[in-house]
Amino acid sequence: MEQTVVTPLFIHLKQNKVCNLEILFSCYEEVYLFINIFFLFISCASDEEVIDNSKEVVPGVKLVNSGHLYTNCDPNDTVYCTNEMQTWINKGVSMMKTQNADVLVVTWNVGKFVSEDGFDKYNTHEVLLTSPEIESILSKISDWLKGTCLSTNQQSEHIKEYRNYLENGADASSQFVLCSNSRIVLAAFETKNPGANEGRDIPAFITHELYHAFQQDLGNQSCTNTREGSSSSNGRAIVEGAAVYFGEYAAGQLMNYDGVNRMLGKIYNDFQGSGDKSIEAGLNWGAGLRLMIERNWLNESSILDGSLFHNCETETLYTNANENIVKIKDLWYMIEKDGDNYKFSDQALGN
Ligand SMILES: [Zn+2]
Repeated sequence: MEQTVVTPLFIHLKQNKVCNLEILFSCYEEVYLFINIFFLFISCASDEEVIDNSKEVVPGVKLVNSGHLYTNCDPNDTVYCTNEMQTWINKGVSMMKTQNADVLVVTWNVGKFVSEDGFDKYNTHEVLLTSPEIESILSKISDWLKGTCLSTNQQSEHIKEYRNYLENGADASSQFVLCSNSRIVLAAFETKNPGANEGRDIPAFITHELYHAFQQDLGNQSCTNTREGSSSSNGRAIVEGAAVYFGEYAAGQLMNYDGVNRMLGKIYNDFQGSGDKSIEAGLNWGAGLRLMIERNWLNESSILDGSLFHNCETETLYTNANENIVKIKDLWYMIEKDGDNYKFSDQALGN
């Protein structure tokens, strides 16, 4: 059987660069304490690409944590250990209602920021990986690719692409839909900056990307076509907003803080700085979804267990035909600060 498929349904973070809205769905600003501002965006398969559903896989998540990340868990290390990252992944997996994809999560460290160019989607950083480390990572990816729907030639093309990222210092931060049920997450980030309050950012980042791999609708070609063909769709934005929500929530659970409050705080601060009332900017759909939840227009559990993305509901229930969605777009920014707590105003809540 001919295996088609492919790539470009990916999602990633980009540092210090404004997303190109003409070619990408949308972008979302995230503030990370240790490296300024990221812009997060999604891009996707073109119309002629077909996502194959025929290859059976064993659902699960494998982690290849490489290079400068070690297996011991000394809190003084400037790297995240494998055991710790596995805990984040296990948390994400445990929250899902069902999980139908075979996911490979590949993480590695890059050095200091070098430039904004060098890659279509990523910035260039110093390379920390040695040649043998790169070969080891690629070998593991190559083995995993053999279990996907990709043809041998397609696998080679992907390896070539990933080699470029690894050898040339890409700050890769994407979830790729290789096949409807074969997903790969590439996550490169800087080593910890001693003293910086970044302990909550990387867990939120990894669980965010992992959540994209759990969004089953991203592997549904029919749903993708509907999303891309409808001017009243909010699908791309909800895909991203839910990942923002999930990442912050899960990181909060892992590290014992209120992740939703932290997310609202970031959005509040962004809005105070920009005054931009467009829900399409930055992390704003995370607040939009939270307000939907608080007004009982959306079940939080459907985000947290991934079921919001099982039956293409973004294109049936949450388009602009839903008047509550339209209202949310005018209310999402009405967040009030009370000490360290952030909450929606009475007006936003309809009280
Ligand atoms: Zn994302």
